[in-house]
Amino acid sequence: MSEEFIPVAQPALVGNERKYVLECVDTTWISSNGRFVTDFESAFAEFCGVGHAVACNTGTAALHLALCVLGIKPGDEVILPSLTFVATAHAVTYCGAVPVFVDSQEGSWNLRPKAVAQAITSRTRAIMPVHLFGCPADMAELRTIAEKRGIPIVEDAAEAVGAEYGGRRVGGIGRVAAFSLFGNKIITSGEGGVLTTDDAGLAQAARLFRNQGMDPKRRYWHTSLGFNYRITNLAAAVALGQLEKIEWHLAARLAVRRWYDAVLADDPAIKLQSLPSTGRHVHWMVAAELLGLNEADRDRVIEVLRDERIETRPLFYPIHTMPSYQGTGSGPGLLPVATRVAATGIVLPTYATLTEAQIRRVVISLKAALRRIATERPAR
Ligand SMILES: *Cc1c(COP(=O)(O)O)cnc(C)c1O
Repeated sequence: MSEEFIPVAQPALVGNERKYVLECVDTTWISSNGRFVTDFESAFAEFCGVGHAVACNTGTAALHLALCVLGIKPGDEVILPSLTFVATAHAVTYCGAVPVFVDSQEGSWNLRPKAVAQAITSRTRAIMPVHLFGCPADMAELRTIAEKRGIPIVEDAAEAVGAEYGGRRVGGIGRVAAFSLFGNKIITSGEGGVLTTDDAGLAQAARLFRNQGMDPKRRYWHTSLGFNYRITNLAAAVALGQLEKIEWHLAARLAVRRWYDAVLADDPAIKLQSLPSTGRHVHWMVAAELLGLNEADRDRVIEVLRDERIETRPLFYPIHTMPSYQGTGSGPGLLPVATRVAATGIVLPTYATLTEAQIRRVVISLKAALRRIATERPAR
């Protein structure tokens, strides 16, 4: 009999999600008009400790709105890490602006403040740290750099709901932030996103852009360009059910990370993403560098695990090496940490309902795969 399949991610709908969705269906309030959108927005703003939350249909839309409300336009430059999900860069491109890719730090793999300072030009209009895999970026240093020059920080908090830095939750540390509610994120609505900000004017502008630029006081009168980035009441119903259980989700993911830590402690060749010295990591994904391997070896590890019915994934590829972004920003070859971590990194199964026994199976298979690859490899 073949072993049980362990996916890399899986939602846990353990709260009122079903009840709230049924309420939408039973009352026919399934569009973006409906109580769950505003109820979710209030609860999310309160959770993040921020003045305003604007729910959207995707996290990418929330990122795009964040840049739109800051007035990012063609010719502007936006600094971001190369080692992130491509949506961070796509949002910059939607505005016609130039993404300037910089390197990551050792350990946390987050945006490297020194590299940011070096990349600033007279055209820099925003700095976009990403709280990668749930680990808060070095916001103190980034804020010092940004504030000195009056450049706003846009947090890509898509992977990091609940993460903390310097006593504040992410989403309330930069001028504006974006979260994702995609199916594999810490809390989900299937597809969805949220923009957060303490600035009432920016929140109002985000609501305008979200709804076709329509004057909220005069229906079908459009005062600016806009998009349809609205979230449905159905999705917001799921999101609210998830958010009500956020502490359970965060505790479950912390337990997952601790189990991985315990079974990997004796293996110096498998180096997990480091924990922040200050702040709180929320473990969207437990990811590791497989030290001493090259990219082909890493891909082979993923294959061997797949044959054992364990799903893993490569880390993100550095965006500056992808066809649509080559030649932009800092250019290839200059971002050594992002390049190495991307080539040797692996993302391990991480979700709230993963058990200690399943984690033990993942790690036993991973260690066996590494031994097998070492023997397959021609001597060098
Ligand atoms: C998931 C993610 C996004 C985009 O979110 P979607 O909801 O999938 O559009 C943006 N940035 C990062 C870093 C992400 O992980």
